[in-house]
Amino acid sequence: MKRGYFESDILKKMREEESFGVLDLSKELALKYISSIDGKDVFPKDEAISGLDNFNEDLGNIAESPENIIKMLDKYGSPATVAQTGRRYFGFVTGGIIPASLSARWLIDAWDQNGALYVISPVASKIEEVCEGWVNQLLNLPPDTAAGFVGGSATAILCGLAAGRNHLLNNIGYDVAKKGLFGAPEIKVVVGEQAHSTIFKALSILGLGAERIIKVPSDGQGRMVVDKISELDNRTLLIMQAGNVNSGSFDDFKHICPIAKRANAWVHVDGAFGLWALACDGMKSLTEGAEMADSWSVDAHKTLNAPYDNGIILCRHRTALSNAMHMTGSYIVYSEKRDGMLYTPEMSRRARGIEVWATLKALGKKGISELVLELHNKAKYFAELLQDNGLEILNDVVFNQVLVRYKDDEKTEKLIKMVQQSGVCWMGGSKWQDKSVMRISVSSYKTSYEDIDISAKEIIRIANEISAE
Ligand SMILES: *Cc1c(COP(=O)(O)O)cnc(C)c1O
Repeated sequence: MKRGYFESDILKKMREEESFGVLDLSKELALKYISSIDGKDVFPKDEAISGLDNFNEDLGNIAESPENIIKMLDKYGSPATVAQTGRRYFGFVTGGIIPASLSARWLIDAWDQNGALYVISPVASKIEEVCEGWVNQLLNLPPDTAAGFVGGSATAILCGLAAGRNHLLNNIGYDVAKKGLFGAPEIKVVVGEQAHSTIFKALSILGLGAERIIKVPSDGQGRMVVDKISELDNRTLLIMQAGNVNSGSFDDFKHICPIAKRANAWVHVDGAFGLWALACDGMKSLTEGAEMADSWSVDAHKTLNAPYDNGIILCRHRTALSNAMHMTGSYIVYSEKRDGMLYTPEMSRRARGIEVWATLKALGKKGISELVLELHNKAKYFAELLQDNGLEILNDVVFNQVLVRYKDDEKTEKLIKMVQQSGVCWMGGSKWQDKSVMRISVSSYKTSYEDIDISAKEIIRIANEISAE
């Protein structure tokens, strides 16, 4: 080495091969965590949460050993986790993590591939291409539907609506990507009043405004009322829903999609957890017509039980999506092969499609269909147990969501709080038609009928206790 150059001891140490020996420790602690998950409180107790104060420290000047870092995470982090990968977590709509998908993540994390371009990672490009084809087939979408592998539905929705906005404006001769929205012809946005909050977020980011849109009234299950949908035309972005985040209901694709298609409107379907119903033979009546849409957003980290963070944007018009996400730069080398960044807002990105691929392969078509059906059947079973014991079910259980009420707002809220503190199971609260409800989401492959028996028993026990007060 020439004089005047200096080599860092810290980096030198990290370069030594044995630095990665700490992976053995990670594996040991991860396996210990996984095997203990079902004995853990579903939501961490206060004591575990106060343990997080140990992270309140200044960044030291001295490099810490990887062993100590992993040990610290295990000591204070693990106990404060929510047992969402366990058997009795019914909060939000989350999904567990199937073994093949976690194992695939570990391996590809070691690869640390960048999914932006073929030349940066041929393996990411290839496997995401295969995965795109599989998803199209599974969901019965047109064969050339483009898939972008993004962090979740919020991003996927943003991509679908950007593609739709640009496509509609392009068709009437206005290049919004170049000219911007100032001075653009107006487009109409029609959306169900029960749309997920991320739809409104995407619309506001895209300059379409969260308030100037036309909201379609919904029926008792949260579906758009077909007769109340305003006139659609070739300047309309229509946003539909497969799986209402509270009730699990599906918009009436069979009647609405053909009307929208005839009008040349762009239809986007937010199917964050519900779109997988398209892969289930037993659920055709819910999804019929959804395949006619122009774009669809779906998560793999919810119903499919892939790890976070995995969402997919699917777009019938490949060039509309890639034009909306396109960028150029002197060093960017697009290839004949699949370049992942053409379909996502990100440039650099983990090769997350590989986890989706592993998840699909581990379940197979049959397994996916059975997973979707079983989550539904278990939700129905849960609802029946509760209803038979004096609780009220407010929704038709058409998918995996159950809305439960106990007498009045006050008792329902008390029930939710006490169940959450029980450690036995965890479900969140919500509002449904201005009433407080307990929202149950059966979304983990791990949940068995026995777990539902145990959870229902606990809910009923607490309800009776509240009644006796
Ligand atoms: C969860 C959800 C979203 C947002 O998805 P993320 O993966 O959290 O970004 C959007 N729409 C619906 C219906 C959802 O359930």
